Amino acid sequence: MTQYPSLHMIIDGERVSGGGRRAHAVVNPATGETIGELPLAEAADLDRALETAAKGFRIWRKSSPQQRAAVLQGAARLMLERKEELARIATLEEGKTLGEARIEVMMNVGLFEFYAGEVFRIYGRALVRPAGMRSTVMHEPVGPVAAFAPWNFPIGNPGRKLGAPIAAGCSVILKAAEETPASALGVLQCLLDAGLPKEVAQAVFGVPSEVSSHLLGSPVIRKLSFTGSTVVGKHLARLATDNMLRTTMELGGHGPVLVFADANIDRTLDTVVAQKYRNAGQVCVSPTRFIVEESVFDRFRDGFVERARAIKAGNGLDADVQMGPMANPRRPEAMDRLIGDASSRGAKLHLGGERIGNAGYFYAPSVLSEIPLDAEIMNEEPFGPVALINPFRGEEAMVAEANRLPYGLAAYAWTDSTARQRRLADEIETGMLGLNTAMIGGADSPFGGVKWSGHGAEDGPEGVLACMVLKAVHEG
Ligand code: NAD
Repeated sequence: MTQYPSLHMIIDGERVSGGGRRAHAVVNPATGETIGELPLAEAADLDRALETAAKGFRIWRKSSPQQRAAVLQGAARLMLERKEELARIATLEEGKTLGEARIEVMMNVGLFEFYAGEVFRIYGRALVRPAGMRSTVMHEPVGPVAAFAPWNFPIGNPGRKLGAPIAAGCSVILKAAEETPASALGVLQCLLDAGLPKEVAQAVFGVPSEVSSHLLGSPVIRKLSFTGSTVVGKHLARLATDNMLRTTMELGGHGPVLVFADANIDRTLDTVVAQKYRNAGQVCVSPTRFIVEESVFDRFRDGFVERARAIKAGNGLDADVQMGPMANPRRPEAMDRLIGDASSRGAKLHLGGERIGNAGYFYAPSVLSEIPLDAEIMNEEPFGPVALINPFRGEEAMVAEANRLPYGLAAYAWTDSTARQRRLADEIETGMLGLNTAMIGGADSPFGGVKWSGHGAEDGPEGVLACMVLKAVHEG
């Protein structure tokens, strides 16, 4: 049985406890018990991290691709060796099932391996010029990165935030969520143990608004990378503008799922129901608004409810559990509020709509249908285990509903018509589109949104280039 580790920050390679004046209680969401005390940064800790990051950038911008690849490969190997330990820590902190946490570790291993190869493919351009003249366009690392990772993927989010800057030759200060610090520290430790110079990557925790204003206001930082809600993202983007920082913003979504009558409905249901309740719905690309062609609406809704009813919720450490608790007390409160509002406006509640048990933050798999479009839940990201199923008539109305909101992160469509698939690929405003699949990510594929879901991409070659700037050099 994995013990929950003692908590600290990592600044200039040292374990730092922030003077011990302020701490955040880390809670196991399956039990509600406090499992750790996380020291929070004071201004002096952040200044030290900034000074170290400036030094780290001077070191790492000169590193060879071989050196960066060796660190990323080594970290991937160590993560694989430490897979069980990391997964158990993630489950203890965040609540997701052990199976989901293991997959998260493996996805991060894959990302570090991909980046280890990508460092050799950061090509520039040689421009066509008359003989004797030469012009080249080069990619250079942008500089020290301030990266903010949320709690819902306690391993994957810090892995993305650390991996891309390190592959690009930047230094990085990571502020992962205070709810899930040990997972983030575990990822960073793999990189440090694989030979990453201690100045290059650090981990701080604190009062989020204090840390972000301190770091983003510093002339040392050259890029902001943030994953979290659109509200906080907009606030941080404003701070970043004052310092003219590059930004990668991975924000909220409200995933539309278009289901057409010509789709294989059973196959669609088998896939989307499992995806809906993954991590208790606390996934930015979660399928959320089910936009179902009228003629198959009853069948789809009934099949959905039947499958959702069979999901076993419980402590993520238990072997046969399919859905863990929500990650913090804010989420069940939000579920009660959003489902209550929808019901009061006439939506039909078919399943759930209530908490489970008295301990921890469990919420029942929930299904609503025929929800008025002005209900809060049809406009605000629910980020929880609730499916919203509405009937629509015809492709045009379905696409209009998919594009109705200011979000555009992930969208899905299920149809057997190839011609329709092409039209949807053109028409749906989204950063990622799954056609007859829920698999919309991959280490080699850009992950990110449009509209209020943010800009810039993580993963893929684009994830590394997002941590680089261009320089054109002209020789006469
Ligand atoms: P929140 O908006 O308070 O926080 C979201 C994240 O931003 C957290 O990790 C938090 O530590 C961080 N944060 C908050 N204020 C900050 C600040 N001033 N500076 C720097 N970081 C700051 O919300 P929450 O209760 O943690 O989560 C609720 C909502 O956030 C969800 O409904 C969902 O929309 C969104 N969310 C999105 C993702 C994602 O993957 N895109 C992940 C987690 C949460």
